[in-house]
Formats: sequence, C-alpha cells, structure tokens
Amino acid sequence: MTIRTRFAPSPTGYLHIGGARTALYSWLFARKHQGRFILRIEDTDLERSTPESVDAILEGMAFLGLDYDEGPFYQTARFDRYREVLSEFIAQGHAYYCTCTKAELEERRAAQIARKEKPRYDRRCRDAGHGPSPQAVVRFKNPLEGTVVVDDAVKGRVVFRNDELDDLVIARGDGTPTYNFTVVVDDMDMGITHVIRGDDHLNNTPRQINMLRALDATPPAYAHIPMILGEDGARLSKRHGAVSVMQYRDEGYLPEALINYLVRLGWAHGDQEIFTRAEMTALFDIKDVHAAAAAINPKKLLWLNQHYIKTLPAADIAKRLAPFLAARGADLTAGPALVEVVTALQERAKTLVEMAEQAHIFYKPETVIDDPKNQAIIASTPRPALAALAEAFATAPAWTREAIHAAVETAATTHGLTFGKLAQPIRIAVTGTAVSPPIDITCALLGRERCVLRLKSAIALAFPETRP
Ligand code: GLU
Repeated sequence: MTIRTRFAPSPTGYLHIGGARTALYSWLFARKHQGRFILRIEDTDLERSTPESVDAILEGMAFLGLDYDEGPFYQTARFDRYREVLSEFIAQGHAYYCTCTKAELEERRAAQIARKEKPRYDRRCRDAGHGPSPQAVVRFKNPLEGTVVVDDAVKGRVVFRNDELDDLVIARGDGTPTYNFTVVVDDMDMGITHVIRGDDHLNNTPRQINMLRALDATPPAYAHIPMILGEDGARLSKRHGAVSVMQYRDEGYLPEALINYLVRLGWAHGDQEIFTRAEMTALFDIKDVHAAAAAINPKKLLWLNQHYIKTLPAADIAKRLAPFLAARGADLTAGPALVEVVTALQERAKTLVEMAEQAHIFYKPETVIDDPKNQAIIASTPRPALAALAEAFATAPAWTREAIHAAVETAATTHGLTFGKLAQPIRIAVTGTAVSPPIDITCALLGRERCVLRLKSAIALAFPETRP
C-alpha cells in the first residue's frame, strides 16, 4: 500500500507555525514511507478565504521546502463532485432534507438547555421524507446506535457513542457543502491513507468515519497532534511574538532551523537536538509524537538558527543574505565579495537580519562617526600613533590580514599602546561603528584605499588644530 498523506489548510490567514508543523509531520511521514504528500486548499468558506492567504501558504511551504507530489487541489474547484456525492447520499437514504428554520432550532435548543439536556438537533426531519426546497439544508443520517472507535496514532484509542453525535448539516440552504462533508469526499477521492492534523479536529473524526462508511470507503488512519502553546502555557497567539512562517523568514530565520525546531516541538529522538532533513525523515515516526501539548521556545529556535548560520556553506548563506542587504539599501557592488563578508560574520550573527546589519558597514560609501562615545575614543588616542598607522597602511607591502596585523602591532608597540587600544579607534574610523570582526579581517575586507582614506579623515576630524 502506498502511504498518502495530505495537508489541508483553510486559507483564512498566514501559515502559522502550528500549521507548518502539521504539514511537516505529514510530509515526513509520507517521505519516510516513500509515499505521496498532497496539498489541498480548503477554501470553501468564501467569506473568510482570501487569495493572499493561499499565496502565503504556498510561499510558506516553498520556504520550508515542504514539496508536495499532488496538488494544490482547491475545494472550490470541486463543487460539482460534492453535489454528485450529495445526491448519491440522498438517493441512498444516508442523508435527508431538513426544513427546520433557524428560529425553530434556536427555540428547541433553548428548551433543551433549560431542561439541562445536551443541546443538539432532535432529528425531527430525519424520517419526514422532505424533498428539496429553497433554504432546506441536508443532514447526514448518523447511525443511532453503537460506537465509533478511533485508534489514534497519537491520542490512543478514543471511543465515541453514536447517540452522542448529531445529524450534522452537510449542505447549507444555498446548496454549498460544509467542511465535514468536503473533507470526507476529498479524503476518499484522493485515497488518503493517513490523516495527520490538529487535535481540534478530533471531535469531527467519528462523524467523518461514519460518512466514509456510508460511502463504502475505508476510513484512513488518524493522528491528531496537540496544539502548540505559548511559553506561558496559553494557546499560541500573536502576542507571543512571531507566529507566521513568513514573519520568521523576515526576521532572518533559516528554513533549516525552523524545520529542526518544529520537528522537535512534540517529537523527540533521545536527546538529539540537531537533525538533518535526511535524519529526521529516517527517524520520525508519527507514533512517537507526544500526546501532550508542546510550548514554543524562542531561545532554542535562535540557538538552532545560529547553529545553521555557522555551519552552512558561506556561499549558501550569502545568497540568502543578499536580499536582506538589498532591503537596507546596500549596494553589493560597492564592497568586497559578499561570501567573504559572510565568512567573517558566520560566528557572530544569530539571524540574517543581524548579519545584514553587521555586513552593511562593508558596503557603505562613507563612514559617519556620529556617536560621541566613538568620537571620544578616537580623540583620546595619541595622534602620532594613528598617523603612523595610516602611513604604515599606505605603504604595507601587501594588503593581507597578516600585514595589517603586523602594522597595527608595530604602531601600538612604538607608541606604548596595547593592540586592542589601537584597534578600537581604527575600527571606528574605518567602519563608523564600534562593532566589527577582528580588525585585520575588517580592514582586509574593506580594502587598503578605503582604510587609509577613512583613517586620515578621522584623524583630521578628531584633531582639527593639527590640520595643515
Ligand atoms: N482545513 C482544516 C483546517 O485548516 C483542516 C482539515 C483537516 O485537516 O481535516 O483546520
């Protein structure tokens, strides 16, 4: 049997990390078993679905590298098929027209609550034999007796009593199908063998199984995964920070880190934290997903991101960093090869945003030393030391890290300074900031001409009285 899983988001917002994790688990399960992973866009809620959300989902999947073998299928393109199954259902006596009005239903509901009964549809139209009429809804004839047993791969065995389940509406008064019905038709038509989804859908499962049985289809296996919580244990929401995959991308997180983070939110393999995609595909098993909800851990995500920034090839990071620099207005033709800057910064940045900030100094046409603290550092350095260094820079036999280091060291020793005491004013002079990679690397990257010019103009600015 070929394993077939699907991710079935409703395009009513961004792809958030809960949805992304559901998609990842379905993807991993399919990949592990050489199965098929299908993307289905559940866009039948015309009021809440938007094309922007569809784009955000597709973009998010692409960013995370969750490739699908079939789809995206859009439910809105399948209305004819839903109508067809609906007619079969009615013809075979599995569904019926219900003419109860909203007001009647509400009145009965209030009465049930007053009698302390569980409110639900009283099946009044079940055997009334109504034909179609404007505004009549279609309800599924749920079995009246017996139980539905869900052997959930994550939750274990969950038993539902049929007499606790409603005759649910499967088509609205305007003829449009409802969520539970479209899912059933699609899971059947698409040959889904394993449904992996959020546990907010667990209560829908017995209804869907009953409908699949009425259709003579074999229900798939189910795995309901718990939701993701905020650090405070409350349901994850915007107030916990980034929740959408694209926001993480914009904050400079790498897909490798996000995927690694998401796989560990609710699943573990011993105490291993770092997983390549091949490793997680080989090791992942839906049965090992924790039944208890997991909480986000932004520090761990940052740690993972730093790990991947450090360990991925510099050329690869450079390609991903370039758009962040472009967004800051940096002209990459006006400085050193980006890959060299990345190599200098890989140990120093936790996100691409941070790296772009640190890399930008190498592409600025001019430096402006506007922080008074930095101005003071230069002004308190002996002018002759700085001047000697500018000269040494201009005449160094080669512009290499070693030559730069030697020039700084000589100038420092000659003027009774430590290496660090001279390195810092130089750093400020050549970058305009107090933070950069080691001075020899920084200067090598910037190039001799810039360093000499900037050093000279910083001297002139700090010691105007000695200007010629
Ligand atoms: N469209 C549903 C949702 O976004 C998922 C349905 C399912 O996985 O069965 O919550």
